[in-house]
Amino acid sequence: MNDLRNELLELAADVRAVAEAATFRGAVHELDPVAVPVPTPKVAPAVPSAWAEVVQEARRVATGADGLAAVRADLGDCQRCGLCEGRKNIVFGVGTAEADLVIVGEGPGHDEDLTGEPFVGAAGQMLDKMLEKVLGLQRSQVYILNVVKCRPPGNRNPTPDEMAACMPFMERQLLASRPKLVLVLGSVALKALLGTTAGIMKSRGMWHEWSGIPVMPTFHPAYLLRNPDDKRKTMDDLLQLRARYDQMGGRRFG
Ligand code: SF4
Repeated sequence: MNDLRNELLELAADVRAVAEAATFRGAVHELDPVAVPVPTPKVAPAVPSAWAEVVQEARRVATGADGLAAVRADLGDCQRCGLCEGRKNIVFGVGTAEADLVIVGEGPGHDEDLTGEPFVGAAGQMLDKMLEKVLGLQRSQVYILNVVKCRPPGNRNPTPDEMAACMPFMERQLLASRPKLVLVLGSVALKALLGTTAGIMKSRGMWHEWSGIPVMPTFHPAYLLRNPDDKRKTMDDLLQLRARYDQMGGRRFG
């Protein structure tokens, strides 16, 4: 009987010792978080993107000629808005992908629609003169694009819906070109690019910014053909542009 009692007492002592040791270990873990085993984080296996998405993304980040070619390829035979119905050509853009200056106009007119090149009519000739005489640049040394790539019928302004459909491509062209400066011509392009409600009269001659790039607005050459008295103001705007272009190391290559 005594043997049995002693065995029971020893067993009880063992159980108490185990319990005390466990309690001690728990207390140590609470005091010292390092002692608590940290579960290995489970890393979800990478989900491979569809190849098309990878290509698409690569195109989005491409710059220079590759970037512009990728934007043109994505635009394709665009029918994203009603302007596709009357167009003869998509007028994508012209000039060098290495340009330090990008010029943004509103949309193609009759001559541009026929040739597929922006600013080739009378307004285009005036733009060429402005570039050459004031900035010392040839058309081949800049990049010229429009907010919408298809001619609005009767040369009307593009509607907000038409601009919204086309503007992602303009923005991607700008991001691919990464110019030092942007010259924006006329109210329609100004409002589209900067999302401002202020017209060209109030905004011209002052520096603005798009995605970190300084933007100078001035009158559209077509407006100057009808209002030659405002050529002087345009000259002032371009002289400001020239000063900043030179200050930023803008190139006159080609
Ligand atoms: S204006 Fe732009 S969005 Fe509309 S059809 Fe032409 S390219 Fe496409």
